[in-house]
Parts: sequence; C-alpha cells; structure tokens
Amino acid sequence: QFKTEIIAVGTELLLGQIANTNAQWISKELALYGINVFYHGVVGDNLKRVEDTFVQAQERSDVIIVTGGLGPTDDDLTREAFQRLSNLEIIEHNLSMEKIEAYFQKQQTKMTPNNRKQARIFKDSDVIENEVGMAPGMILSYQDKTWVFLPGVPKEMKHMLSQKVLPYLKTLSGEDTIIKSTMLKFIGIGEAHLEDELSDIIHQQSNPTIAPLAQNEGVAIRLTAKASSPKEAEELIDQAKIEILKRVGSFCYGVDDQKLEEKVFQLLKQQELHLAAAESFTGGMFTEKLISIPGASEVCRGGIVCYDKKVKTDVLNISTETIFEYGTVSKECAKEMAINSCHVMDADLGISFTGVAGPKEEEGKPVGTVFIAIHRKNKDTVVENYSFFGDRQTIRRRAILKGYELLYN
Ligand code: ATP
Ligand code: MG
Repeated sequence: QFKTEIIAVGTELLLGQIANTNAQWISKELALYGINVFYHGVVGDNLKRVEDTFVQAQERSDVIIVTGGLGPTDDDLTREAFQRLSNLEIIEHNLSMEKIEAYFQKQQTKMTPNNRKQARIFKDSDVIENEVGMAPGMILSYQDKTWVFLPGVPKEMKHMLSQKVLPYLKTLSGEDTIIKSTMLKFIGIGEAHLEDELSDIIHQQSNPTIAPLAQNEGVAIRLTAKASSPKEAEELIDQAKIEILKRVGSFCYGVDDQKLEEKVFQLLKQQELHLAAAESFTGGMFTEKLISIPGASEVCRGGIVCYDKKVKTDVLNISTETIFEYGTVSKECAKEMAINSCHVMDADLGISFTGVAGPKEEEGKPVGTVFIAIHRKNKDTVVENYSFFGDRQTIRRRAILKGYELLYN
C-alpha cells in the first residue's frame, strides 16, 4: 500500500479564517476506497515554504494531493513552487485557455493577463478538466511519485476528485473492491433508542458496516458495503436494510438525500390537501422549506409570518381576548392560529408555530416553550406542547422539524 499525503495551500487556512475541510473531505473519500492517508499538511502562500513542504512530501510519501494556489492571483504559487523542485516545464493548456477566453467573452468582461495563468499546466501531465470552474487540475508522475494538483475551491476540487482522481488512485492501489454506502433516515426516534433496537446487528455485522449518526434532521444509519461489484454491494445493503426496517421501519422516512419535507409534500399531494402555515417565532422557515420543493404550489397555499401580536390579531384575526387571557405562547393561541390560517388562506390543513426562542423568557414562559397546532378542516385541531433545549436558532429549527414530523405521522 502506498502512502498518501494531502497538502492544502493557503494563508487563510493558517490564519484560521477557514477550516481545512478539503483535507477532511478527501481523507474521508480515500478511506472509503481503502487508501491510507499518512499526513495532512497546511502551508501559507509563500513560495519558499510551499517548495519546502513539497520537498518533504516527495521524500516521505508516494501520492501527494495538493489543493489550492492554482488561481489567477500573485499569491497562487503552487505551480511555481513545484517547478522549483522538479524543473518540469510549464506550458499553456489550449483547451483550458479557450474555455477561459470563452467565459470572459460571454460575461463581456475584460480578461486580465493573470487570468491566462490559470490555464498553465505541467507539460506531460494528465490534465483534469474543470467542469465547474476555471483552473484545470493535473495528475503527474515525478521520480516515481504521483502528484495531484487540484484547485482550492471545494466544489471544483470535489468534482475533480470524484470524477478523475479517485478512479485513478483506485487503479494505482490495485484494490478491486468497490465501496457503496447508503443512508437510512429516521424521525421520531432518538439515536440512543435506535442504537438500542439494533445493537446486536450493529455489533455483529461487518459487511455492510452499520453506523448510527445524529443529524440535524433526526437520526440516520449509514450502511457501508465492500464488494467486488456494485451489484453485489447493493445486495448486501438490501439484505441488511430488510432486517433493520423489520425492527424500526415505522420511523424510517427515506434514504440518502431525501428530506422530510419532501415526504410531507408527497403525502399532501397524494391526499390532494392544501396547506397553510401561521408562523410566529419560526419566521417563515417552515414555509420556506416547503416552497423550496419544485411543484410546491400543488400543496402549499402560503404562510403568514405573524410575529408581532398586532399581526396575529389584524391579519390572522386571532381574538384579542385569547391573547389577553392566555398570551401568544399558548395552546389556545396556537389553535386559533392554525384554524384561522386555513380560513384566511383557503386551505384544508393549517399548521401554526408559536413559542419562546430566547434568549429571554416571555409571558412568564421559559425559553424553549413551543406550541404547534395542526388543524384539519371540518375535522379536528391538535395542539402539541414542547419544551426544546438549545439556543435561539436550535429551538427554531427543532420546532420546524417537529412540525414536519407531526404532518408526516
Ligand atoms: P481557483 O484556481 O479556482 O481560483 P485556487 O486553486 O486558487 O482556486 P484558492 O485561491 O487557494 O484556490 O482558494 C479558493 C477558495 O477555496 C478560498 O477562498 C477558500 O475559501 C477555499 N479553500 C481553499 N483551500 C481550502 C481548503 N483546504 N479547505 C476548504 N476551503 C478551501
Ligand atoms: Mg489561494
């Protein structure tokens, strides 16, 4: 097995202005392929120090992946530093140059000479086209070591790494196993409870491995299988999935990138229901998530952000008596908000959020007090009372998630 090293170039990393998420991400991807990373390095935008770092890497590692410093500005020095060490010739890459020229023509902005810099590559290197940005990446071989140069911009780097670099390194490593992983997503069950239900399979099972993960939106279980073909990996995952869903399937709302609000959207669509929301302390975030989904107009009537008392009474017609008697953060107010949102927005289903997000208590109710009501036209109104823990944003996020959870159940 070869030794891999990742070097991130950029003074902003040393200053702590940004975290080295590139190295983290690359390491994680390589680990999935069974490729061992031995070193992470960070170096500032300084020619001599970048060169020194490269010299050290050339000595101690077999594959060196460098991110950053390929851009157009004077502090982008990666090529120059590697040239000082290797004496390899740098040429202009025609295809990349044409792309850069076309870009500036389309934008109708003037190209400055330093933009040409980005199209420069080492002669005889394997050029990795940049499909989401300007500077191409490179893979090259120098004195038995493999060097990979990628832009610092995470989106560009990730694209190149998955499309070109990983397949290349996989061949290099001679590993013919493939790795596939799937995420099962759960709501309405805590991480501890989930782990408890599955503890025997989590511990006995090694292919796929089964790992519970807490997420912003509920909990998830990641299944990672190793196999000699994608089909075999899929079968292994499917088998494990069946066993898991047998036990906790009622809490599972989707896989991988699926979002809870998408499931709710589908449910509402199937039932041909139209939803309206009255949002106080959630400030429209609930409605925003729903409207992010293409086709939302089929189910979403709208949302009213009734943060101030006066908006509750004047726009949503909440009775002043209710507010006077129980306050805005109350079961009664939440209920009226849900019912009235249906009337005002002509919906079949109304959901409301009222609560104390903090930092101070309100109406004598502690931070984290939340009421969520759901009204089904000509049916019933259900009000739930929660006390959430966390800072202002966490409480607001939890409330929204809870709202979707209630609609999903
Ligand atoms: P390009 O050639 O596309 O201009 P570059 O190779 O010059 O990119 P940098 O200028 O070093 O890359 O970085 C571009 C941006 O990418 C930086 O503003 C920074 O936010 C981000 N970035 C750079 N390196 C890292 C890193 N190691 N981890 C996370 N983000 C990074
Ligand atoms: Mg830079």
